[in-house]
Amino acid sequence: MRPAHALIDLNALRHNYLLAKSLSGQGALAVIKANAYGHGAVHCAEALSEVADGFAVACIEEALELRAAGVSKPILLLEGWFEADELPLLVEHQLWAVVHHQAQLEQLEAAHIASPLHIWLKLDTGMHRVGFSPAEYADVWHSLERSSKVASLTKMTHFARADEPETGRTEEQLAVFADATADLSGPASLCNSPGVLAWPAAHGDWLRPGIMLYGATPFSFSQAQAELLQPVMQLESRIIAVRELPAGEPIGYGSRYITQRPTRVGVVAMGYADGYPRHAKDGTPVLVDGQRSQLIGRVSMDMLTVDLTELPGSGLGSAVRLWGEGLNASEVAAWADSIPYQLFCNLNRVPRRYIG
Ligand SMILES: *Cc1c(COP(=O)(O)O)cnc(C)c1O
Repeated sequence: MRPAHALIDLNALRHNYLLAKSLSGQGALAVIKANAYGHGAVHCAEALSEVADGFAVACIEEALELRAAGVSKPILLLEGWFEADELPLLVEHQLWAVVHHQAQLEQLEAAHIASPLHIWLKLDTGMHRVGFSPAEYADVWHSLERSSKVASLTKMTHFARADEPETGRTEEQLAVFADATADLSGPASLCNSPGVLAWPAAHGDWLRPGIMLYGATPFSFSQAQAELLQPVMQLESRIIAVRELPAGEPIGYGSRYITQRPTRVGVVAMGYADGYPRHAKDGTPVLVDGQRSQLIGRVSMDMLTVDLTELPGSGLGSAVRLWGEGLNASEVAAWADSIPYQLFCNLNRVPRRYIG
């Protein structure tokens, strides 16, 4: 059997969720969109079912998968509904919905639904992706307040640069939020993971932690709270071949890497078809038997090559960890001009094994 696999530690997932909650004491929706960032949405929801206040996903398809698996906690659709015919299903399955666009207001008013919906009304405080402008927000809020289709209203916005505290941008977004919602009474939700970890003043009533649940830091620098996260996914495989090359020999496709010295090369059963980033550069850290080694040569579909010259005790069959304990996915992502979010979401082919 091919040794590549992703080991998912559900105890670590619970630990990270409870860390988010402990930082604010408020409610927290565990964001498990995109198959829980590649970790398996149903497994993650079940693992969190005792502790989580609820969940958030990107669309009704993701929510219905959870409901079909028996997940009964609240589920928020982060972009609400895309087409009006979803509305009766939202009611039937008790899904909460973000409303971010004029077209959704019209669809809601025209809808024939058996009971009113819990709405999170999105304010665009400067991300400029989705949400109502500060100028129109209060009017929309009041019209929904009067609507018989609305059971409750929550104020909501999203940060563009909460992972870059020095930019001043989050303070600006917070000021816009405070100003536009000053006269509106209702719970507020602002924080993604970097907001949860680094912006306690912004916590409001509902947190929306995503990447931190999976134990990857959203920051490109060391951050005290993020240090407390536990990696959930161990992406692992083994060395399946070893060869000794003299100096001056190329390795792999395109001969990207040329040996600088006599080199002992280990071939790992892991490639971009598994989700390992093809753009990882020479030097990307890899753990072999728990010790740091590095990627040399281009990542292929099913294999990649690492330098074993400094690890004489390692060889055929040695355990390889691509990310996880001892090697944060954020560090690997930086070597591939990517982010841990994308590394996790791209996970493919490798079987997931669950512990905890
Ligand atoms: C995905 C998402 C989150 C979670 O973001 P992380 O950075 O992964 O914590 C929170 N809020 C919204 C609206 C999202 O789309």
